[in-house]
Amino acid sequence: MMKHGILIDLTLCVGCYACEEADAERWGHPSSDIHELSSTQNTAVVDVDGVYVSKQCMHCNEPTCESVCPVGAFEKTALGPVIYHEQRCMGCRYCMQACPFDVPRYQWDSLNPEVTKCDLCYDRIREGGQPACVEVCPAEARVFGPLDDLIAEAKRRISETPDQYISHIYGVKEAGGTSVLFLAPKDFAELGLRTQLPDHPLPTLTWAILSKIPNYVFWGTTMLAGVWWITNRRKEVMEYEQALERMEQGNPSRRVNNNDHE
Ligand code: SF4
Ligand code: SF4
Ligand code: SF4
Repeated sequence: MMKHGILIDLTLCVGCYACEEADAERWGHPSSDIHELSSTQNTAVVDVDGVYVSKQCMHCNEPTCESVCPVGAFEKTALGPVIYHEQRCMGCRYCMQACPFDVPRYQWDSLNPEVTKCDLCYDRIREGGQPACVEVCPAEARVFGPLDDLIAEAKRRISETPDQYISHIYGVKEAGGTSVLFLAPKDFAELGLRTQLPDHPLPTLTWAILSKIPNYVFWGTTMLAGVWWITNRRKEVMEYEQALERMEQGNPSRRVNNNDHE
């Protein structure tokens, strides 16, 4: 299966935030005037001195979030998106520490918290559609398609209008390559993107470091099993309380008692 991705041309973005709105609608989140990644915002458009810079999951070719997750909650799909399996997640948040692009967020306020990030609209693109944020962009600053075609298109734009772009496609090499690519009118570091990343995938590095910590696997696994138990237990308690509440609502004698208090 051909890998797909998104090319975001920062020279075209007009800062209308339609992509943020489409993303919020897609996930059932409230719309927001705060343009930052959060547990209810999976794409954010940040004004950096008049250039509108998009932030979201880069859908790395070899994602660090996937490699550090002890329970396989992240998966790099054959189609390109890196997706999250919330039912497997035990809440250790290693993915948040490991992501080279500082993307995953956490539902700190939730009783049953999950990690949140863009999934490249996996359900939509599997059906042959486009990501919601791409579909609504009035300036065509976001283009969706096979990764090789996007790279060819980015090269074409740079060679046809070299004055408009710096001669670099961000994401082709960064951290071993990503499925989200950027074109920009000026240096990526000035726009707040991380430019000191190695060209090779970070998972190799992660494992090289972890394997040198004595007893990491034993203590890590023991600690994480504890975290998993607590998270799971909390979920069980919540489900029990909800079931109890439902039973109480369906119990007439209880309803009479409630009315007595009115
Ligand atoms: S950008 Fe971060 S969260 Fe997204 S795939 Fe890469 S490592 Fe994972
Ligand atoms: S691809 Fe989908 S999930 Fe990702 S930012 Fe766009 S609308 Fe949100
Ligand atoms: S919808 Fe397009 S033009 Fe509007 S903010 Fe998003 S990327 Fe920029």
